[in-house]
Parts: sequence; C-alpha cells; structure tokens
Amino acid sequence: MLILPAPTGKGMIIIKQGGDKIISGACMNNMPNILWLEEIRKEDITSVGGKGASLGEMASLGLPVPKAFVVTAQAFRRFLVETGLEQKIYKSLDSLDVENNEALEKAAENIKGQVLKAKVPAATRDEIKKAYRKISSDDLIVAVRSSATAEDLPDASFAGQQETYLNIKGEAALLTAVQKCWASLYGARAIYYRAKQGFDDRTVNIAVVVQQLVNSEKAGVMFTSHPITGEPLTIIEGSWGLGEAVVSGSVSPDKYVFDQRTEKIVDRLVSTKKVEIIADGGHGTKSVEVDMQRQDAQVLSDAEVSKLAMYGKITENHYGVPQDVEWGIVGETFYILQSRPITTIGTKKGAQGAPGAGAPAMGDHKILLQGQGASPGIAVGKVALIRDVKDIGMVKEGDILVTRMTNPDMVPAMKKVAAIVTDEGGMTCHAAIVSRELGTPAVVGTKKATSVLTSGQIVTVDGEKGLIYEGAFEQVVQKQQAAAHQQVAGAGAPTITATSVKVNVSIPEAAARAAATGADGVGLLRIEHLILGLNKTPGWFITNHREEEFVKELHDGIKIVLDAFPGKPVWVRTLDAPTDEFRNMMGGENEPHEHNPMLGWRGIRRDLQSPDQFRLQVESFKQLWKEGYENLGVMFPMVSHPDQFVQAKEMMRGWGVDVENVTLGIMIEIPSSAILIEDFLTCGIKFASFGTNDLIQYTLAIDRNNENIADMYQPKHPAVLRLIHNAIQTCREHGVECSICGQAGSDPKMVEWLVEHGIASVSANIDAIAKIRETVARTEQRIILEAARNRNAE
Ligand code: PEP
Ligand code: MG
Repeated sequence: MLILPAPTGKGMIIIKQGGDKIISGACMNNMPNILWLEEIRKEDITSVGGKGASLGEMASLGLPVPKAFVVTAQAFRRFLVETGLEQKIYKSLDSLDVENNEALEKAAENIKGQVLKAKVPAATRDEIKKAYRKISSDDLIVAVRSSATAEDLPDASFAGQQETYLNIKGEAALLTAVQKCWASLYGARAIYYRAKQGFDDRTVNIAVVVQQLVNSEKAGVMFTSHPITGEPLTIIEGSWGLGEAVVSGSVSPDKYVFDQRTEKIVDRLVSTKKVEIIADGGHGTKSVEVDMQRQDAQVLSDAEVSKLAMYGKITENHYGVPQDVEWGIVGETFYILQSRPITTIGTKKGAQGAPGAGAPAMGDHKILLQGQGASPGIAVGKVALIRDVKDIGMVKEGDILVTRMTNPDMVPAMKKVAAIVTDEGGMTCHAAIVSRELGTPAVVGTKKATSVLTSGQIVTVDGEKGLIYEGAFEQVVQKQQAAAHQQVAGAGAPTITATSVKVNVSIPEAAARAAATGADGVGLLRIEHLILGLNKTPGWFITNHREEEFVKELHDGIKIVLDAFPGKPVWVRTLDAPTDEFRNMMGGENEPHEHNPMLGWRGIRRDLQSPDQFRLQVESFKQLWKEGYENLGVMFPMVSHPDQFVQAKEMMRGWGVDVENVTLGIMIEIPSSAILIEDFLTCGIKFASFGTNDLIQYTLAIDRNNENIADMYQPKHPAVLRLIHNAIQTCREHGVECSICGQAGSDPKMVEWLVEHGIASVSANIDAIAKIRETVARTEQRIILEAARNRNAE
C-alpha cells in the first residue's frame, strides 16, 4: 500500500493493490466520539474536519478560542454502522446519476430523512450530553457547525455545503442539531460536488463542532502581516456586531495598521458604519442599522488594537506564515474565531502588471481605500475626480480617473489615464472590462472613492490587490513608462492547443495588443464600444440621417480588428448596451427610462424591434464580407428563444446577406438559451459562446455590478455549471463549436473545468491569454496522459 498526498490536495490518497484509490478518513475503531479542543491538533483532520483541527491548533497555543468540543467523524460513522444506514446509503448513491437533477434531489431527500429519523446510539447521545454539561452547567447557547473531513483543504471547497446552526440551547436541541449536521452531508449540492470532484462517498466523513456562541459586540478580520508586501504591519479591520458584516463587505469597517517592529499604531481610518449583523434570536442572524452615536465612533481602542495584534503575532509565529484571522470582542473578552494563511503575499505584480517584477515597498504609505482589483498593475498619478460625465474633458494623460462608474462615453479618457478607480461595480462592469483591455490598472467597487479622494491628490493604485495608497511609490513612478505593455510583448511563441484560445476585444486600439498574444482568433468583439466613444447613440445617427457615418464607423473599427487577425475567426457581436449606458450621449434623451436596464431593452431583443438600428450594423458586416473578410462571424447577444435567431437571420436574408454561407452564432447568456440549445442547433447556429457575465447573473439573480452582493456572484455555482455542461455536450453531439467569452473564460480554474468538460474554444481577456493557454495545454496533456495510463492499466 502506498500513501501519497492527493494531487488535488484533497487529503491523503491510499493507493490499494489493484489501483483503486480512496481518500483516507474511514472509520478508525479506537477514536473517541468526543474530542475537546485542547486534545486536538491540526493532524486530526480526519477525526474533526478542517474547522475542528484549526480551532484545536489555535486553542493549543493559548489563544482565546471560544469553548468547544467536537463530535468526531468516527461518532458519525458508528452511527451509520450501528443503525444499518451505511450500506443503504452507499447503495443508493452508487446507482445515482448525479446529472439527473430529479433523481439527485430525491436521493438526497430520502437519505437526509433516514439520517434524521434514525436513533443515535445511546452511548454517543450520552457522551454528547455529558460534554455539553461540561462546557457549562447552565443551558449554554452554542453554535453547532458541520466540519466535513475534507473541508478547508486546498481545492476541496466543501465549506458552506454542510449546515451550521446558531443559537442552540439545551440537550434536546443540541442532539437534533448534530443529527441535522450529519444529514447535511447528503444534501443534493454536497453529493453533486463530491461526485464531480472525485471524492468517494464511503470515505468522506463529517464531524460536528459544538462551540460556545460568541455574540460579538465588535468583530472583524486581521491580516497579521501586510497582505501585499509581507511587511510586519498588522492590518485590523473592525466593525460593530458580528464579524460577518466585515467578511461579507456589507459594511465599510474601521482600519488600523499596527507596526510589529515599533509596536505602534501607524495608521487608522475610522469609517461610517451604517449596518451591523446581530443574532436574530432564532437560529440565524439579521442586519440592522447602527445607532447614530456609534456610526462614526472608533470601534477599537488603542489597547484593543495592540492586544489583537499580539494575538496575530502569536498565530503567525506558530504557523510560520502570515495569517488571516477572524476575531470578536464581547465586553472585555477577546475571542479568536478562525485563522487561515494569507495566500496573496509574494504573488503580486510589478508596475503595469509585469509579472515577477515584485511590488514596491509600502513604507509609510497609508491605505486610503480598498475595492476589487479589476485590472492588474500598479500606477501612480494625480486624481481626476469626475462626478459628471460632462467634465470628462478635464482628464489628462497619466491621471488617475476616479468616478462613480465609467460609461462608454468615458472611453476616450480611459485610454489616456494611468489607472481607474470607481465607487461601484464588480469584475465584469464597464470599468473592469475596458481597463483590462487597455492594460490599465483598475480598482472597482471601492464604495467611496469619489468621497474619500480629492482632485489633484497623488495616489498609488494597485489594480491587482484592489488598494489605493496615499502618495507615490517611487519605484512605480520610474517603471511606469518602461514597463507599459511589457506583459503582452513578452508573450513569446504560442503553444499549440487542441482547444482554441481566443481573445476578447472591445476597442480597435487594443487589436494589436490582442494579436500580439498569438491568440487563435477573436471570440468576442463588443461593437458598442466602437460607436459609443463617439458620444452619439445609434438612434441619433438615424434621426439625423447620418446612417452612413454610423456604418462607416462600425466598418472601420471592425476592419482594424479583422486586419490584426488575418485568416483567424473574429466573432463580432451585434449591439448590446443597456439603455442607461446611452443616457449621457447625444440622443440619450430619447432612451427609455427602465427600472432594470440589465433586464431591459438590450441585445438582440432591441435590434429585432429596431430594424433600422439592426440594418445599419448588418450593412457594415455586408461590406466587410464583400471585401473578402470571410473570417468575420456574427454573434447575437441576449437571445432567449430560437425564434429570435431565426428572425434575425431572416431579416439579414431580406437585406441581401447569403445567410446560409456566413457564420452566424449566438451567445448563451440567458438560462433559457442554455436549456433550449438543442433547438437553436436545429435552427442552424454555427457556434455558441457562453456569456457567463450575464449567464451567472441571470441564473443566480445576482446583479453583476452590485458590489454588495459580489461574494454571491459564483461562476462555479452548480446551477451555472450544469447549464454549461449540458450545452457543451449538446453542441458536441451536433459538431458545433461551443465557446466562452465571459470573464470566467479568463479564470484558469474555470477553464480547466471547461476543457475537462469538452469546450471547443475559450476566449479570454488580453492580459489573461498566456495563463489561459498554459492552463488549456496542461489540462489537455493531463487528459491524454490519464487516458494513456488507463489504457495501459487495462
Ligand atoms: C457576458 O455576458 O459574459 C458577455 C461577454 O457580455 P457582456 O459582458 O458584454 O454583457
Ligand atoms: Mg453579456
């Protein structure tokens, strides 16, 4: 028998004779049913799960971890064996097709029901009750948390798939909560994930942490060292109520920087804290408004900052790497709730995103703001604060553009700035897309850049980590010019991959940079950026009889991109700008006011109702096809029904396009188009491309540009993955190219999954091409290698 670390980091793999692999964690006969935190070390993960092991390790250091015991994985396993459930569950899971949603839901309900109904062995029940009494003779209120035995291991993101029950009081409620945690191991989502990630259900266990509930009066997170530079500067963020408010980003917390060398607070930023999260009195939490007196009050005293920083130092010294720590305070009592390594230190990029250049030292620079790092690179410049788009002309070359949110009519200014900072938005907002394409560092969703920063102020923007510092980093100033575009220029000869790696382009100015990546074509050319920079809506051109100008503008812009990709496919998307993006332009006064422009008059639905607008676009395509650009394909956005594709095709036929011999395809951005993909294929689409930016928002009902819910915007949500998987398979069966051009196509982890699931091509942002190509090549090689090994083993 050979024991190896699992390649995916999912624990130890025990290779048995005959080659079967199982992940360790199966029942160990002598392990107790209950372990106290003090008895646990991080190696005990197979008994107490990731959460339990981490708490035990922290308690062993003498850190003030809330009192707790763990009902071990072995107690759970004994329960399954003694009640006879084990074999029944395996039997039902063995024959389950997890892709069959109905069957999956039914099996999950059935198994959970059985786990909840079964009688917990008397010995285990007694031990749990005894342990509860030992924590406190009164009915202490506890949190009962699942701790899957593979949870918190790299790549095995089981976290959140099993349940947590807050505010549990009394023996009976505790026993029920433990049993509910056990049952949650068989939730549909958990079963699906395990099946997809190759975990063997027989060996994945669940432990349950029973812990004194801490109703923090103030709480937050702490980076024990600076998250970018690794300097011994402890950064503490804190707010009122439970730490959830800080972790989820629903509040702008206070920030304190403590220098471990001088043991002094070197910086503090007291924010307005409008909301706090508190226990709801039931089994959950609620968000309430902070009373006026506390909103602007400093959360932590200097002594509290020092004490937390001291705890931070203890954890960092113990683990040997900087930690991300969750903490809470009730009255005068401190609690350390969780600690994880910070993974970002040392991975930062230098000026203008040049990889490996090393980040400049932060020195005494104060962090002014934090948001989402939307386009990598570091830049220094003077703030140009634009509150009204009409003032955009004031932005100068090399400025830092600071605005609530960028608009297409700001693109000319965006081209000349050193960095972009916005109050609003997420990774797929306008500012994020355009700045990545321009290679300009950007931080979006800071919430308050326009109120914190002032025009003329010198700042340094880190577009990777999402931080804005006061003043100029000298090294950045020196490198700023020299390093521009270094990343793309150094791309080198591309690796050949079976899965095509294409690039997204929105502005013709980026065509040369895009082509320099060696991409296999353009998987998305967003044409709205070609005309919106002119500051006139398509309607304006039509009303003012300037159609020819409009057609020429489109023709010339698209031609620049086609010329940069000779002989390679270039998929040009028809217009897709929500009405609010047109509002500030000439003609914008005629745009309808919509309650929700994201769900409104955009994409193909608008073109089909506005034949004049559609016809002008088609006119430009016709000219290009006539000029011999056969590599031009046309992609329709926001289609929800095959009839829309048929109608668009028929309109084009009516305008003289040889529709059977040109390449017409669709974007899959609305769940309905993924569900109806077979019907689209029957209607003759030549390709389909996932617009995951929209597909995710429409599947999960999460506004892609709303920073308050950015953490719920999950590209890997099982529902999204299921839609994608099914559409890929159906396209493959029809021999039609299936691709992706949403932001998820620039994420290596997602691309690995897509290649494994048979995607034909991926289209990524310019700055991501090298990384994505490498991911595609590696994944393909691994698939080939595994197939060869399997053949040899037979
Ligand atoms: C998408 O939705 O993924 C997409 C590429 O389109 P856009 O971001 O322009 O909506
Ligand atoms: Mg879209």
